[in-house]
Amino acid sequence: MAERIDGKKISAEIKEELKTEVAALKEQGKEAALAVIQVGADPASSVYVRNKKKACEYIGIKSLSYELSETSTEQELLDLIEQLNKDDAVNGILVQLPLPEHMDEDKVIKAISPQKDVDGFHPQNVGALVIGQEGFVSCTPAGIIQLLKRSGIEIEGKNCVVVGRSNIVGKPMALLMLRENATVTVTHSKTRNLKEICKEADILIVAIGKKEFITKEYVKEGAVVIDVGIHRDENNKLSGDVKFDEVEPIASAITPVPGGVGPMTIAMLMNNCVSTMRK
Ligand code: NDP
Repeated sequence: MAERIDGKKISAEIKEELKTEVAALKEQGKEAALAVIQVGADPASSVYVRNKKKACEYIGIKSLSYELSETSTEQELLDLIEQLNKDDAVNGILVQLPLPEHMDEDKVIKAISPQKDVDGFHPQNVGALVIGQEGFVSCTPAGIIQLLKRSGIEIEGKNCVVVGRSNIVGKPMALLMLRENATVTVTHSKTRNLKEICKEADILIVAIGKKEFITKEYVKEGAVVIDVGIHRDENNKLSGDVKFDEVEPIASAITPVPGGVGPMTIAMLMNNCVSTMRK
């Protein structure tokens, strides 16, 4: 039976470490403030925004809230970002996604100063990750690296298969595993023989957004399985992209949903904010 990787516990550990570090940095006169922008009042986004603000408060970072109405224009949002880019008291800028349909997400992401892009979505930060230079790294994949390392799972030399190639999870995940010296295969909706490829994985990371898609036929005995997917059913019950009950008995370690990858994203966002104080 697989060891359950406890993302809640590891996330709490990281936040605790950051809280101690922030207190010490503050003694040296360093401060950090994260500007959180929400456009519209999508309930799921409101929960994420609230949790991010709570995490800031917990570790001792100031959070500044900007709430724009659903009908505000793209230019209004770009103007606000520009103002925050210029404000020396703001170290991080986060625009909660998704944006309303009349706004161009790419344009908005590019408007954020790469030095304040704590989500790690700006092309300059993505490029830095590709060539192994310093920059902000997308929080969910960065959190998965922490889950693996802090669970004592060796990455170097392992066969890693990433299922999904989105800009915020799959692609940065593959690059981070490569940085950790895994041998990485990236798969997607056009991949042939997905089952056979997944079955070769020592570490299987799944981010496809399809409920319980990965069954035991995709998993090698003893593999480590990381499930990024989040699905909520009509009774509010959460599940992932992996059929947990089937895969748990054959994996050596597995992340549950909820309580696996999910809690790590905010911890790594906080880490990105604190990194602006370390300089
Ligand atoms: P996207 O929808 O942006 O990307 C999904 C990827 O999966 C695409 O690359 C797609 O391929 C691939 N894919 C879809 N169907 C298949 C298939 N049948 N076989 C192989 N590959 C397939 O999703 P995200 O990466 O944004 O998110 C994935 C999941 O993770 C979602 O459930 C999301 O809710 C969750 N998530 C969780 C987070 C957390 O904090 N835990 C954070 C972010 C996301 P193609 O490119 O060819 O279309």
